Amino acid sequence: MQAVDYLIVGQGLAGSVFAALLLERGRSFVVVDDDHRTAASKAAGGIINPITGKRLNRPSLIGKLLEEGFSTYPMIERLLGVPLFARRNVLRLFVDRIEHRRWETKRQLPEYEQYVGPMSPEIPANLASTHGAFEITVAGQVDIRQLITGFRSLLKAEDRLLEAPFRYDLLRISSAAVEWRDIRAQYVIFCEGYRMTENPYFNAIRLNPAKGEVLTLETPDFGDPRIVQCGKWIFRTLSGEILAGTTYSWDQLDENPTCEAKDQIRKGMQSFCKFDFEVTDHRAGVRAVTKADNRPIVGVHPNWPRLAILNGFGSKGALQVPFSARQLLENLEQNEYLHSEIAVCRPSLWK
Ligand SMILES: Cc1cc2nc3c(=O)[nH]c(=O)nc-3n(C[C@H](O)[C@H](O)[C@H](O)COP(=O)(O)OP(=O)(O)OC[C@H]3O[C@@H](n4cnc5c(N)ncnc54)[C@H](O)[C@@H]3O)c2cc1C
Repeated sequence: MQAVDYLIVGQGLAGSVFAALLLERGRSFVVVDDDHRTAASKAAGGIINPITGKRLNRPSLIGKLLEEGFSTYPMIERLLGVPLFARRNVLRLFVDRIEHRRWETKRQLPEYEQYVGPMSPEIPANLASTHGAFEITVAGQVDIRQLITGFRSLLKAEDRLLEAPFRYDLLRISSAAVEWRDIRAQYVIFCEGYRMTENPYFNAIRLNPAKGEVLTLETPDFGDPRIVQCGKWIFRTLSGEILAGTTYSWDQLDENPTCEAKDQIRKGMQSFCKFDFEVTDHRAGVRAVTKADNRPIVGVHPNWPRLAILNGFGSKGALQVPFSARQLLENLEQNEYLHSEIAVCRPSLWK
């Protein structure tokens, strides 16, 4: 029997970041993952943005989320020895007059001030800004695909990865430890993304999973270093790839790209990009969205203290995972307070 501190189920962004924190702390662990079969992290844009959505909202705990993200991703870059993260501005082009008016009200609020640059940002001639624009100056982009593939290689090299589906019926739980196959661990950390619906210990938590799709484009005409958003978004990754997205749909929850989503993204791009592009790749994934409040699910099961969860990151994994992973680790190891907005024990989560 192999004895470790932690057994992690799922090696998407959440499982990888939690494992990186364990490496930093010198803890022992094994990760079980089914070859990224359903990883939303493979499709993600990796945008970190403090002002999001049609309503131009600021996610709750935003200061802490940014602080943790901006220190954790560089730590993982050093660990893997590859560039994964960059601070980027976001050029937000208003989709219509209503959005512009909404922003006029919001930007007066002191809590928005620190995240935005001066009004009237520079707009290149090949972008249409019919309704005006503003620029977000505290934002970034993580190459999540690169992070999870790089991390996988590291785990393999260190013999910490089991490439297999996790069979829940093989889990044995006692008050002192958990056992799964020939592994004995202090805790299991479940990070399965939207497939937590198959987890018999946590599937009473209501999810509203949302499929999303992303295109890779080829064009010589998009060189802007910013993330450009106008309903849809477009940006260059650290490796120079141009990504465009995204879509939301609630039926057909799988990883198969669809013509409808491709057309939707194309049309969205054409509304503000005055240049031609070719689609060279197309990916899809399913986001684990918490039905009750669209917030992360973090912490120890209310009835099974050896089982913990790190999930529910919806469309903001890049922003929310580092803070949530750190909170979980401190909670397990130092008995530190878990923020009530993300704690798994909030009653609204459970059926
Ligand atoms: C199209 C799209 C665009 C997105 N863009 C952004 C963005 O720009 N910014 C942002 O912050 N977020 C974005 N997201 C959201 C982001 O992808 C997620 O929040 C994040 O990647 C979730 O990571 P995770 O580790 O929780 O889950 P996942 O990435 O889904 O990882 C779960 C892993 O567990 C494995 N697994 C599941 N069950 C089992 C089992 N029983 N046994 C073994 N392995 C199992 C899966 O195969 C997978 O490898 C986007 C998502 C999509 C779909």
